[in-house]
Amino acid sequence: MIMRKLTTIICSCILLFTGCNTHSAPDIEIFKSVIDELSSEKYQGRGYACDGVIKAGEYIESQFIEAGVDEVTLQPFCIDVNTFPGEMEMAVDGKQIVPGLDFVMREYSPGIKGSFNLYFIDTAGYDAEKIFKEIAKDENENSFVVCDFYFTYKHKDDFNKLQSNGGAANAGLILTWETPLKFYKAYAEKVIDKPIIWTTSQIIKDAKRVEVNIENKFLEDYESNNILAKVSGKRDDSCFVFLAHYDHLGNLGRDVYYPGANDNASGTAALISYANYYANNRPEFDIYFLAVSGEDTNLRGSTYFVNNPLIPLESIKYLINMDMVGDNNPIQYCEVSETGTDGFELMEQINRQEGYIDGFNRGELAANSDHYPFALKGVPCILFENENGDAFPYYHTTQDNIETVKYTLFEPLSSIITTFIERY
Ligand SMILES: [Zn+2]
Repeated sequence: MIMRKLTTIICSCILLFTGCNTHSAPDIEIFKSVIDELSSEKYQGRGYACDGVIKAGEYIESQFIEAGVDEVTLQPFCIDVNTFPGEMEMAVDGKQIVPGLDFVMREYSPGIKGSFNLYFIDTAGYDAEKIFKEIAKDENENSFVVCDFYFTYKHKDDFNKLQSNGGAANAGLILTWETPLKFYKAYAEKVIDKPIIWTTSQIIKDAKRVEVNIENKFLEDYESNNILAKVSGKRDDSCFVFLAHYDHLGNLGRDVYYPGANDNASGTAALISYANYYANNRPEFDIYFLAVSGEDTNLRGSTYFVNNPLIPLESIKYLINMDMVGDNNPIQYCEVSETGTDGFELMEQINRQEGYIDGFNRGELAANSDHYPFALKGVPCILFENENGDAFPYYHTTQDNIETVKYTLFEPLSSIITTFIERY
């Protein structure tokens, strides 16, 4: 743990000169500029292979300091993670296709290089015994097996054999999936025997051969930081916590990275804007701003934090997790922990009175973002994740970028949140 105490020089002198309160609400310009910065090429999708997550962490720390917080603490932790930092080429019958757009990798896939025949699974007349016999024949040996991704769920045991050495003689799997193709990292803490490539049925149907040149790199004990900033309130017997993950999916080969403007440069940007607001509008209770890493690799940063808390979890009055708030659906999706219902009802009441947004859509509590490990520990908390707005279809695609992210909900949602902090 690295603790950095900062001397706070509040810009009250500037306020004296300007003679007006420039901090009546969290600043949307800070929100926009942090999203712009974090989704830029410099941070390479805030993944691990190119140290994007480290550079992003340094930038976030500097932004908290600039915002005027009282204290920033770094909490390092390690993960094992599979990455794709190098070659990422694929051609179907001699025609080159585009990584990220036309094909993506299963997160735990190894690399592979060579030219391969294709063997298409007959899903209509599915007969596993026949398929394994055919794959063992000379002409099919070392081929890529092609199948619909969702179909593989129905026959998991068979497909597990097709992805492991000794299970069958195929080279790997090509699974056809929805468009736009999504890339996940959640189960990247291992590498399986054989490569799995996702592509569209449009691209692979009727094809005869593929050529691939794909490199992976498995990183062990890769260290990144959770970043905890604090604005001291008038009393310190309990606190509020704002939470957001700043890591994202990183690279898919040397030339392609996932900007993650909505997921979750947006939540991180909201944290920095709120830190600036509260540093200039001293709150009643202490407020912490926790930017965590490792979310897209299975909530690793937040899980590490709840198991090694830098603040007593019992002292948290309420925790607000912001994940994908760069969108425009006026019905705000949320998840609330069992102990967080009172707080959520107050937020609903505030919104009913003021009509900031059209309403909330409360979903089942799930392990889909960083509030979850806190909820399991009994912390009163809520997740704000905007779903089904115009940015949402690009979730986990290369098009989740500065062009598709939306700023619409920042101000109304911030009004609900700041009013809630005042009243709860
Ligand atoms: Zn996210």
